Amino acid sequence: MFKKILVANRGEIALRIQRACSELGIKAVMVYSEADREAKYVKLAEEAVCIGPAPSAQSYLNMPAIISAAEVTDAEAIHPGYGFLSENADFAERVEQSGFQFIGPTPESIRIMGDKVSAKQAMIKAGVPCVPGSEGELPDDPVQIRRIAKAIGYPVIIKAAGGGGGRGMRVVHTEAALINAVQMTKAEAGAAFNNPAVYMEKFLQNPRHIEIQILADKHRNAVYLGERDCSMQRRHQKIIEEAPAPGIPRKLIDKVGERCVAACKKIGYRGAGTFEFLYEDGEFYFIEMNTRVQVEHPVTEMITGVDIVKTQIMVAAGERLPFTQRDIQIRGHAIECRINAEDPYKFTPSPGRITMWHAPGGPGVRVDSHVYTNYFVPPNYDSMVGKVIVHGDTRQQAMARMSTALGETLVEGINTNIPLHRELMADAKFMAGGTNIHYLEEWMARHAR
Ligand code: ADP
Repeated sequence: MFKKILVANRGEIALRIQRACSELGIKAVMVYSEADREAKYVKLAEEAVCIGPAPSAQSYLNMPAIISAAEVTDAEAIHPGYGFLSENADFAERVEQSGFQFIGPTPESIRIMGDKVSAKQAMIKAGVPCVPGSEGELPDDPVQIRRIAKAIGYPVIIKAAGGGGGRGMRVVHTEAALINAVQMTKAEAGAAFNNPAVYMEKFLQNPRHIEIQILADKHRNAVYLGERDCSMQRRHQKIIEEAPAPGIPRKLIDKVGERCVAACKKIGYRGAGTFEFLYEDGEFYFIEMNTRVQVEHPVTEMITGVDIVKTQIMVAAGERLPFTQRDIQIRGHAIECRINAEDPYKFTPSPGRITMWHAPGGPGVRVDSHVYTNYFVPPNYDSMVGKVIVHGDTRQQAMARMSTALGETLVEGINTNIPLHRELMADAKFMAGGTNIHYLEEWMARHAR
């Protein structure tokens, strides 16, 4: 096992990784920008290194600064968390070339999955169900493009192979709009992702976002840890996640989960990963794979009892997965609310000093957050200040627990989206379960104020 790991991230996930290291008896080196000097995990750290000024480009995205921090502190491995450099294959390569273990998949796996066209091709080969679409990248010939769209059937969606974060996509409803849309998406993709390749998929009208968590070791063992429903999104940003997904037969999940595990074994995947699917009319359609730990990993931890972050570290050190598929049991229901520093209805960011922070507690309540009373939320980064996660025997109990927990949470000095979460926990349709990816935005429109 490693003696020392460098945590190349910030916020709640930095603290989450620090906690996992502490439980494993590993020393964690925390890095921070000048704006994050006051973060809880920096104060708790035995060793912390300032890697640059507030802007991420000069700190959390600064590869030489991070690698030299690992060198001067004698760390053996680097945990990239999520966001920032976590899905950057060049970073993973540089980490390994500098003699450190990257806590994540190989650079090759990150590269294959980072290109949506090659990811989809790998999934088709492994028998994972995908959205019907073009066979790989779209050709230049308008006649051929029209033929492909006709075969798929309108509406279609044009997507950038290198896209991410919900950018580089365009929905097309009619043939008249097709060629122009392809050209515009190509031009944007070239400028934004340095890769003009685009592909086409059937546009699903009312899907849910369901994802499967997997864990794999370096010895070709892999398991899936059930699914999460992350359909509560605004502008493709998830705000509430839950596990299991209400109303989806376990047998169907198992079938898809087994295909994901087969795909992992086929590509020699190692570490944690998530297969994201759209789910409509009882069918799963793969859209992309995330090759890192996800914000919503705690709901899976709550229902399986598996510590995903600790397992990531253990398999990176070469250990075998300490469980097999048969050991994975789903127990109860878990929900996560992302607490963001923002106006609950207008979503304008609300950074600044937190004058009062009181976290909820009680049975089945977990709070992952790096903030505290008198902490200053810097304006430079993502607005998430923490996550409230609850577990209950049933979904109904979990929802009641979340309402209670949110009612206990006290944050003063900044605005948060807690009032929105509280309303959603009392919303009849959400309570019934199974709402689709448009539900939150439709709800917002109905409750415009
Ligand atoms: P990104 O990497 O940018 O997040 P994804 O491929 O995961 O891109 O897609 C992001 C979101 O776009 C999905 O969650 C879904 O809301 C929408 N989307 C993507 N592909 C389709 C599709 N074929 N049909 C309907 N919606 C889609």
